[in-house]
Amino acid sequence: MSLNTVVGMLSSLQSFQTDIGTGMDIVTDVAIDLVETQDGEVHPGIKDMEAMILECAKLDREINHFVDVVKQVTSEVATQQPEAMFSLSDNVKEQFTERIARLSDTDLQKHQKVVAFKDSIKNSLNQANRESEENMEELDEDVVVSQSQVNFTCPLTQVEMVNPVKNKKCNHQYDEGAILGLIKAKHSQKKKCRCPVVGCGNTDINESDLIPDQILRRRIQSHKRQTNRT
Ligand SMILES: [Zn+2]
Repeated sequence: MSLNTVVGMLSSLQSFQTDIGTGMDIVTDVAIDLVETQDGEVHPGIKDMEAMILECAKLDREINHFVDVVKQVTSEVATQQPEAMFSLSDNVKEQFTERIARLSDTDLQKHQKVVAFKDSIKNSLNQANRESEENMEELDEDVVVSQSQVNFTCPLTQVEMVNPVKNKKCNHQYDEGAILGLIKAKHSQKKKCRCPVVGCGNTDINESDLIPDQILRRRIQSHKRQTNRT
């Protein structure tokens, strides 16, 4: 095995990982659909989808560890005798097996997309229940529309969000690219990143606080489809 082969393999693994992420988003999307069409009842299919999400999260995590081990082992090889190349795959296998053995399934619950899945299901169940209550009362359509439009705007970019993420500490939403850019800029100046929403007391945002907001993303998309139609 040459180092070039290793580099090629790592990059195809990383694009596979991107596909896993997309797959997880799709499963979450289908699950939200299911909740919405079931009027807040928990469809048994949701459990299967959750198991699917967990499997994907596991695979994603294993790829991360594998890539990490390969990078570490190959960087060590570069400083050793050429013969070290021969034991490269054995070394990788050994270290990877060791790492995987130490992982626990409970940690999978912290995977960003697992959190996003559970959060989406919980919120759309709440939403469905709230809507069935609200159906009893008259709803002012105009008020509903203007309220949701406000929420579609990113507090940073001031335009409609594309990939909304929710801060699990203060529940504020931002466009993913904008907030990650702000966090990075602040952290590179050794400063804390405060929540850009006016009046929010959250003074320290970190990337790990952010979870993709699938429900909001769907609303923005359906709103966009409606406005395009009119
Ligand atoms: Zn906030």
